[in-house]
Amino acid sequence: MFTPMAPAAAPRLAEIGSRSTPLFSDSQRFEHLDELLAAGPFDAVILDGTGEYTSTLLYSLRKHASYRLKLIYASSTDPRAQALADGPAPAARAVIDQQYQQWQQRHELFNRGRAPEGIDAQLLAYLWLRAPGKLLAVRDARSPQHHVYPLLDAMADGPVNGQVWIANLTQRNLIQSTELIDRIRLCKQCGSGHLNYIDVCVECNCLDIQRQPSMHCFTCGHIGPQGEFLKDGALLCPNCLTRLRHIGTDYDRPLENYHCNGCKAFFVDADVEARCLDCGTHHQPDELLMREIHHYQLSENALLVARQGLEEARHEYFSRLAMVGMNTFKTLLNWQIELIQRHKAPSFVLLGMRFRNLGSTLERLGPQRGHALLDSLIERIQEVIRDTDRCTRTSEEHLWLLLMHTDQVGLRLVTERLNRISELFRGQRPARHPAAHHRLHRAP
Ligand SMILES: [Zn+2]
Ligand SMILES: [Zn+2]
Ligand SMILES: [Zn+2]
Repeated sequence: MFTPMAPAAAPRLAEIGSRSTPLFSDSQRFEHLDELLAAGPFDAVILDGTGEYTSTLLYSLRKHASYRLKLIYASSTDPRAQALADGPAPAARAVIDQQYQQWQQRHELFNRGRAPEGIDAQLLAYLWLRAPGKLLAVRDARSPQHHVYPLLDAMADGPVNGQVWIANLTQRNLIQSTELIDRIRLCKQCGSGHLNYIDVCVECNCLDIQRQPSMHCFTCGHIGPQGEFLKDGALLCPNCLTRLRHIGTDYDRPLENYHCNGCKAFFVDADVEARCLDCGTHHQPDELLMREIHHYQLSENALLVARQGLEEARHEYFSRLAMVGMNTFKTLLNWQIELIQRHKAPSFVLLGMRFRNLGSTLERLGPQRGHALLDSLIERIQEVIRDTDRCTRTSEEHLWLLLMHTDQVGLRLVTERLNRISELFRGQRPARHPAAHHRLHRAP
């Protein structure tokens, strides 16, 4: 599957659909998937149908070992189809040829020519062949988490938990989010997103509550449902028996406007409870698990890994500088902030470093010397921080360090050391200024 191919050969094209004449004169036309599979592997496939059937076809092709990674065009606007296809077929054959050539070149570069083994590697290969690729979430009411990743489902051998897979890939800094498309809340017990939000009594959590107009007697201060005040067509306080004539002078209508039929309590706002429709667990809304749903693409790191080889990457690249993906970094940061809020400890430091003019320095030194400089710089930073600290890069120039269990004194030590590194490089004029800005998070 991953043997180098003769370059610049025109791709063998197949088409599936109901159109009577093929889109391109040299492509082979099939009515059904079986016929296409029987006719042997093609380099690219065009599906001309629309609607759900096209999505099903695409899914079957992506499941098939011969077509998993291939260029497949589909004009369907179904979101599932869009998550699995390479867009609509280009009108010009030359464009397909060119896309196929690029696909072939990348195919040869991937993982130093070794075939992708396992589903992670196949997914990376798929995205790499379309780098940075698209891993799209699609809304799906049938799914307990309301969203699915059709590409993950097609790539996996059996049923997978897409969210877990995604979290793993993000943590390993192989994919990065391109767009936040939804925020969902899930049952803390079973992880289902099928929740029912209901108003309940603030006193006894009873479901049986109703809105009820109420009144407030100015004379004695009694508050009660309006019905209690009505007597023979006139308003009378049931407590002090004062006749109430004028609103604003004798009485008013307070905010208390819910009444519990269980415990008879009056209250302004009902409590909201989230009940899981799958397992029945009751939650306070803030107890629910929160998940963000994103679209993804390959991370910059993964672009490098795809070329360098997946094996090497596992040992070297990921361990370097305890570098984590931005989402993981944010999660860690949130975690620390929550700890501080709850326990007032432990203090930690968020340190932002900016390598000013990095781009122009790399340009001036040339890629080889430039990256060597960067490597030694990162090595030195690595010496300064500890195993438990984490870093992330939000761009080529911005490095963020999360220094655990660090107080003001610790911060001063770290910044001094980082500044000394900066001194070391001053002679070579590689413009970079660690600790350009930093912020200290401490227990208030
Ligand atoms: Zn009264
Ligand atoms: Zn109640
Ligand atoms: Zn549940």
